[in-house]
Amino acid sequence: MKKLQLLLLVAAALSAAGKPASKAVGANKLLLISFDGFRWDYDQDVETPNLDQLVLDGVKAKYITPPMLTMTSPSHFTTITGRWVEDHEVVHNMMYDSKTNQKVSHKKTLTRSEWWDNGVLPLWITAQNQGLKTASFHFPGGGANYSGQAVNRVLVEEFDHPDDNETEWRQNVDTVLRWFSEEDFHLVTLYYGEPDNVGHAKGPDTEDRKKIIRQIDRTIGYLREAIDRHSLTDSLNVIITSDHGMTTVKKRPQVEEIILNKYLNLIKLASFEILDYGGFGILTPRPGKEQEVFDSLSKAPNLTVYHKDQMPESFHLGKSERLPPIVVVADLGFNLNSRFIVYVNKGDHGYHNGEMDMKTIFRAFGPDFRRNFVSEPFDSVHIYPLMCKLLQIHPAPHNGSMRVTEPLLLPSGEHNGSMRVTEPLLLPSGGSQLTAPVSVTLLLLVIFTVL
Ligand SMILES: [Zn+2]
Repeated sequence: MKKLQLLLLVAAALSAAGKPASKAVGANKLLLISFDGFRWDYDQDVETPNLDQLVLDGVKAKYITPPMLTMTSPSHFTTITGRWVEDHEVVHNMMYDSKTNQKVSHKKTLTRSEWWDNGVLPLWITAQNQGLKTASFHFPGGGANYSGQAVNRVLVEEFDHPDDNETEWRQNVDTVLRWFSEEDFHLVTLYYGEPDNVGHAKGPDTEDRKKIIRQIDRTIGYLREAIDRHSLTDSLNVIITSDHGMTTVKKRPQVEEIILNKYLNLIKLASFEILDYGGFGILTPRPGKEQEVFDSLSKAPNLTVYHKDQMPESFHLGKSERLPPIVVVADLGFNLNSRFIVYVNKGDHGYHNGEMDMKTIFRAFGPDFRRNFVSEPFDSVHIYPLMCKLLQIHPAPHNGSMRVTEPLLLPSGEHNGSMRVTEPLLLPSGGSQLTAPVSVTLLLLVIFTVL
């Protein structure tokens, strides 16, 4: 081959790599389901025939580790963006402005784009920009606009939405399956508020929690039957996961609860705080009081106090601009209280993501997944590149790695229970920056070898 021809070929390959993919017609569809607060071991003390069957028919991770912090909005947004919390900046369930002291409750944040849209694009938008049709059913973050773009179809959870209505759960399954089968949606995210709700209200180690796990298990059985009924068995991949675990809150007389006002005068020393929110607290010291606040809080037992810029790297929180300068994390099961004990939850989360009680679940099945495969644990940040690969789209920059989840997939070209053969697009394995697809890199290597 002549040099000019080779150069043209290289240029063509490069320009193809730079363009967004056109609609990935060969890709199977993807349903991502989150059951909020499903601790990794919730299926181990209650009969779950459908979840057990999923292990045979698909893949399971022993557990997955959510990001710090182990809270609903931050963790869900890491799953759907593949970014650490310090990068996507959804640093709390509550929206707040530490300068004006304005605070907005979790459910009211669900449509507030200014809380979610911080320059990181979630999967819905990235997929839409590459020609796919996406929807969010109650999934945190789905109700916001990103750089002015909305998710194609959005249902936002109502303020008084009941979390545990099994009939409605089944209706929601049928609704999203119709979106796939009748309206050709490619990606739908579906969220359920259980077992988080029962875990908070009754505690994770209760009969009430087991009852909800049985209900979730029946719903998964219903889902599989409905996938068949909608003729989606050969074309729909399903990932079932969650945002964090749950632990029993320690109370008197077993322990002395942490009341922070005992250790420092909050009014005098802090200009902003969210402290009555489980085991994770944030505060902004008044000017000149930084060291006094840090030293005083350091005296409180069962608590670790961090300067934002001195947090362990593994938290991936320190670079956040939104987080106030002081972050406090209680020991597992200890609740923080600012002035009085107002928090009445029997179970909670928000603790260190290294605690086993904060770990959560990962299950997947469908035409592109192996069967009867149990994976080692991994971080939830790696789910994002896996979803991009399944949808055959170019990922936005992310912190995950395809190397971690690659073993969950059938080798390229093989297909579960289907005659159809697709050619999954090879995506860069890992790294946080979008690079040329591996296939193009290989082509270039071949060409340069010839040269
Ligand atoms: Zn949650």
